[in-house]
Amino acid sequence: MAELYSGELTAAKDAVILASQVCRAVQATISAEALEKKDRSPVTIADYASQAVICKQLREAFPNDPIVAEEDAADLRNSENAAFLERATEEIRKIGVEASADDVLTWIDYGNHDGTGNRYWTLDPIDGTKGFLRKEQFAVSLALIENGTIKVAALACPNLATADGSGAGVVFLAVKDRGATMFPLDTPDATPVPVQVSKTSDSSQARMCESVESGHSAHDQSAIALEKLGITAEPVRLDSQAKYGVVARGEADIYLRLPTRKDYVEKIWDHAGGVLVMEEAGGKASDIDGKPLDFSVGATLKNNRGVVVTNGLLHDQVIEVIKTLDFS
Ligand code: AMP
Ligand code: MG
Repeated sequence: MAELYSGELTAAKDAVILASQVCRAVQATISAEALEKKDRSPVTIADYASQAVICKQLREAFPNDPIVAEEDAADLRNSENAAFLERATEEIRKIGVEASADDVLTWIDYGNHDGTGNRYWTLDPIDGTKGFLRKEQFAVSLALIENGTIKVAALACPNLATADGSGAGVVFLAVKDRGATMFPLDTPDATPVPVQVSKTSDSSQARMCESVESGHSAHDQSAIALEKLGITAEPVRLDSQAKYGVVARGEADIYLRLPTRKDYVEKIWDHAGGVLVMEEAGGKASDIDGKPLDFSVGATLKNNRGVVVTNGLLHDQVIEVIKTLDFS
């Protein structure tokens, strides 16, 4: 019998690997000068190119599947952005995909779906754009959602150290109820190895990770939480859904994403891929009140506030502490 979702998993895996090649090539061109000036053009180009390539691949494999992706091509159609469109198209051609500028616009707009309906993909073509620009961590995150349940995930982290520390670039894969695996981005034919969360149950020994950006997660509140949990180790800060990968493979025990503003609503593409990988590795995700993340209400997690991720064993303890914090 064919493995459940094997076609979806293969398509998702191939698509994020291809997109990672584009992202890496563009990230390599970021000069010290561009870094200094905080020039956003590299991420703009890579973001569009990554989304175009993935949407094209998915559309070929699953012509009827809608895609809820972060970007759309409206801005790119403005003549003032012609140079971005040209660069994105060039980058796609460089990885061996035939493309015209019009193709690129069409492919990007395949990602325009709003997340209604009972089966759709969700894509963040470059998650952690600030990390991408700093030449640090970023991720390409793709997931399939059916009836509010995340079924398939492919999460590429092109700058994350491989398990043996010999290089950088890891792809995590997961299928609901079938476990999570990873393999090095540079050896896609390698047999994927299972990933498993840590077994830490003593909260004082836990290692926590969070966003680099204090605008994305309240660092002051997480510091209080660490103190209350008796954790003396400094939090590890990294951009993107690579944090889910780090918890999934047991290198951190907790990932906190604590609200910085009352009105911010999390987007499904910022979490779906990472959440399934981490859950299938044995971990647990909820919002700051301990409620499950609700992926059944369109493109956002509007029924939730913040995100709390643990190896499962620590979850109740962490939620008890989070409940004492002030997010007003
Ligand atoms: P990270 O790399 O974990 O800091 O997360 C990057 C993601 O944070 C981006 O993809 C944004 O969609 C998202 N983001 C933007 N503003 C906020 C905010 N105020 N709170 C939480 N996440 C945010
Ligand atoms: Mg994102």
